[in-house]
Amino acid sequence: MKQEFNDFNPEEDSPVAVTFQRADEKTENVLRPQYLEDFQGQAQLKENLSVFIKAARERGEALDHTFLIGPPGLGKTTLASIIANEMHSELRMTSAPALDKPKDLAGILTNVTENSIFFIDEIHRLKPALEEMLYIAMEDFEIDWVIGQGPSARTMRIPLPRFTLIGATTKAGSVSTPLSERFGITGHLEYYNDEELKKIVLRSADILSCRIDDEAASLLAHCSRGTPRIANRLLKRLRDFADVMKGGCIDTDIVRYGLDKLGIDSNGLEKQDRAILRTIIQFYQGGPVGADTLSISVGEAVETLEDFYEPYLIQQGYLKRTPRGRMVTRKAYDLLNIEYNGGSTDADQGLLF
Ligand code: ADP
Repeated sequence: MKQEFNDFNPEEDSPVAVTFQRADEKTENVLRPQYLEDFQGQAQLKENLSVFIKAARERGEALDHTFLIGPPGLGKTTLASIIANEMHSELRMTSAPALDKPKDLAGILTNVTENSIFFIDEIHRLKPALEEMLYIAMEDFEIDWVIGQGPSARTMRIPLPRFTLIGATTKAGSVSTPLSERFGITGHLEYYNDEELKKIVLRSADILSCRIDDEAASLLAHCSRGTPRIANRLLKRLRDFADVMKGGCIDTDIVRYGLDKLGIDSNGLEKQDRAILRTIIQFYQGGPVGADTLSISVGEAVETLEDFYEPYLIQQGYLKRTPRGRMVTRKAYDLLNIEYNGGSTDADQGLLF
């Protein structure tokens, strides 16, 4: 599909909604690993990426377009900046909701440089017209630009430098097939295990000059929902408790005390996780219940429910997604000390929908 950019001038319009940075510049987040060797976990993905990066670098080509899929906080943005660093490339970052009109995207695309990386976060939220522009940009490295209107309109094809698009999403199912098929590399990020998270905690503690003992790091890792962002956030909060109460060193007492104050249990579940499970049991006889109904019942946006809470509850075996809605498992009853009565019957399930 041709895009109309009557009001867009690639010479004058500066790219909007884009944060521009050189990949080797210090990023805002000091805890973000800069190179693959500092990136913990995701072993297979890391190994594959290092081969693809090395091959592209040796051939002097741009890396193939890369699609990163996984729940929030697992390292998609971090990997994009690592890829840029490893490729010695320039990095431009934006997020799909920030791109409103075709000219927003055209402004960025016409400013990318040869072999650079263009990162679009939440790519599943890209508007259809922009998505179609991206197809041609990804495949043919050009965009169609319509000048004028009506019968006098003419199309200009603007060639683009060969660049790498890195698209990240928490919802692979919401990305259209034509878009996902145009990525040559696809990486699924999985939740981290305790050992990997512990290494992340110890590395972050080192960077933040914060003392934490080995056992405390293990406990903190175990309560971080398999997610580095949460591990880092908890570390910073526990450092606050330690600074105020224990002269700065985080030990297991501080971890237990701090997590309790933050409403996080020994399984890493937050108050809202438990509220979600309890609501399904108490109001919907264990489910199934649809996401919209559940989101109203627990007062949480559907997106947050689906992208943040549910994946971890499912991965931990507390929740199941069925064609008829969400259902809790026996494990959820045990967690909440609620007597298991076999869950809802098929007849109940039918009534709920
Ligand atoms: P996403 O883009 O998937 O939401 P980010 O890339 O923003 O997640 O990661 C969140 C934070 O977690 C980053 O600031 C980074 O410090 C940390 N992080 C993520 N993955 C790793 C990893 N594999 N090793 C070390 N730190 C990580």
